[in-house]
Amino acid sequence: MAFRKCLECGRGIGGAKHCSYCGCVWEDSNPVYEKGLKFFDKQDYKRAVECFLKAAKKEYVPAFNKLGYCYEFGMGVAQDYSMTVHWYLKATEKGYAPAQNNIGRCYYNGLGIKQDFTQAYRWFIRAAENGNTEALNNLGCCYYYGNGVKQDSYQAIEYFRKAAENGNADAQHNLGCCYMSGYGGARDYEEAVKYLTAAAESGHTEAQNNLGDCYAYGYGVAIDYQKAFSWYSKSATGGSICAQNNLGECYFYGEGVKIDYNKAAFWFKKSADRGLEGAKRNLEQCLKKIKE
Ligand SMILES: [Zn+2]
Repeated sequence: MAFRKCLECGRGIGGAKHCSYCGCVWEDSNPVYEKGLKFFDKQDYKRAVECFLKAAKKEYVPAFNKLGYCYEFGMGVAQDYSMTVHWYLKATEKGYAPAQNNIGRCYYNGLGIKQDFTQAYRWFIRAAENGNTEALNNLGCCYYYGNGVKQDSYQAIEYFRKAAENGNADAQHNLGCCYMSGYGGARDYEEAVKYLTAAAESGHTEAQNNLGDCYAYGYGVAIDYQKAFSWYSKSATGGSICAQNNLGECYFYGEGVKIDYNKAAFWFKKSADRGLEGAKRNLEQCLKKIKE
């Protein structure tokens, strides 16, 4: 039996069994669907959707889920949440784990369907039982906020941990934040750094900013302004408004980098334009400094 990278998530290893990351199953490959995935990767979403529709006509279940996704994010079709729900539900009828998680998200966020945390929780449980890693993280969120289930910090942390250990960056970030803040009575800066690093290294923007803070203030690691600067840079480039302000401060105070008021102003402005109050004050101060 040939094992290859999972076509659904690209993360786990698939074959004629459950993918180890998203829990999907496919027994037969479908050439039209795979052609669609190639178009999708090339960001030719219109052609991708055409292929997915053809595969869906042949009742190829992963195509149902992909069509739901394309409608959710308006890729190759106009964004349409009722179509999103339609296609995800069609895939759940066949027990497709990624779609069970996706329809859970629709209930959780009220996308194309009335917001209902209890239903969301039930779908996440089903998806998680079928081996879907994102659903584990979503269950952690349900327990963390008490959405659809009684708030329970122990369960929240356990679900975050399971998802984090299976490589889910959101869960690694969430768990890192739990350890950082002492949520559930478990403050542990070294554990926080461990999980934030894992998430940051896989490109999680918020985790990169939080990890920058760890290095800037010496939480769980020795203070290292260069590392702080480097993580803030990545996060700021990725669009975090907190990191943009933090990076501005690095340039303003010369922490981890040479003082450069123009670069500081550039990053303060980016952050201020998107509404961060602290960045507005920093920008004013910085512009004064430039005029001096
Ligand atoms: Zn997968």
